[in-house]
Amino acid sequence: MPPTDLPAVVERFLRYVRIDTEADRDSDTTPSTEKQKELSSLLARELGELGLSDAAMDDHGYVYASLPAMPEGSTAPALALVAHVDTSPDAPGGPVEPRIHADYDGSVIALEDGVTLDPARSPELLDHLGHDLITSDGTTLLGSDDKAGVAIIMQAVADLLAEPQRPRPLLKVCFTVDEEIGRGVDELDLEKLGVEVAYTIDGGGVGTFSYETFNAAEAVIRVQGVGVHPGYAKDVMANATTIVAEILAALPAGEAPETTAHREGYFCPHLVEGDVTQAEARILLRDFTADGLDRRKQLVEQLAAAAALKHPRARIQVEIEDNYRNMREYIETKDDRAISFAFSAAEELGIELREELVRGGTDGSRLSEMGLPTPNVFTGGHDFHSCFEWNTVQNLEAALAYVKALVEYWGRHGGEEA
Ligand SMILES: [Zn+2]
Repeated sequence: MPPTDLPAVVERFLRYVRIDTEADRDSDTTPSTEKQKELSSLLARELGELGLSDAAMDDHGYVYASLPAMPEGSTAPALALVAHVDTSPDAPGGPVEPRIHADYDGSVIALEDGVTLDPARSPELLDHLGHDLITSDGTTLLGSDDKAGVAIIMQAVADLLAEPQRPRPLLKVCFTVDEEIGRGVDELDLEKLGVEVAYTIDGGGVGTFSYETFNAAEAVIRVQGVGVHPGYAKDVMANATTIVAEILAALPAGEAPETTAHREGYFCPHLVEGDVTQAEARILLRDFTADGLDRRKQLVEQLAAAAALKHPRARIQVEIEDNYRNMREYIETKDDRAISFAFSAAEELGIELREELVRGGTDGSRLSEMGLPTPNVFTGGHDFHSCFEWNTVQNLEAALAYVKALVEYWGRHGGEEA
């Protein structure tokens, strides 16, 4: 496929992925790597050229811009589209040399350095027969996560400007930095963003939509034992290490990260240290429901209490701290149209939207907790953070069409009584 025949969103995508924007966990500046600003400043400039007169990059590399509502005076709530410019440090970041493999036939694709795209490992490839696949040359990640989101938002803005008859709410564009190292919203200025609902365009396969994350807490069990010479310890010693091991062994084996999926929660002991006199275990507790998380907290307390009865010479303490909550609770309290409109817009467009649970936290969950309902929309990408990451020309077009339909749906219905 000659580059001149490529849809505009794909042309943008190929330009943006070539700019290396790898984030760095070991850096404590924002952005963590100066090179992220290269893409941010390009985006701010391009938004300005499109006619968004307030488009600008701030000192931290965040880009903000606004597109006025249509028709003028629309009462639909202001909406933000958010994507991150950085790429993951978990695979080589650049320079990226994208490749297009036209009319995919289901075979194994060989890239450089023995890297392959193999339906045996990535069965979703077989759902994309006839698509024009986009990959890196195999020596780096592709960076579809999240330059697909960036390209989709940029093209949506360009297209919406060209179609002023399409209703839309006041639309804000926001590009963030350092999402991949968990700092994507650290310097995000919510007041400056000034919207009531947002969507991150940072999801996976076509049709996937995420608005639920785990409820998360961490339990710390501290055991104070009694240490004496082991040869003369009968009826005297309380071995803190043994007691911690007993408590951990009593956790339900079927509720561990390695034995659960989908909507199932878990207990994950992730750190144990100690000796005879003192030992500590840290356990991650995860559950999609608030009740389920409470039940997990209670079980840890009960196991510790039972161990205290069995080992009266030891002192056992439990401390539990909440980390984050399922964003669905925040979204439903604040404005559940962030979810229902997303499904309605998909239905009108004739695509099936399906919920993809996030078995972790996201930038959207932090934003939702901060009061801005922010579900996550698909970009069409697969196998993130790897040298065999891929997307397709057709998926990018489908994601773009959906994002525009979603904006239009808010434009048409956002002003109605909630
Ligand atoms: Zn991402």
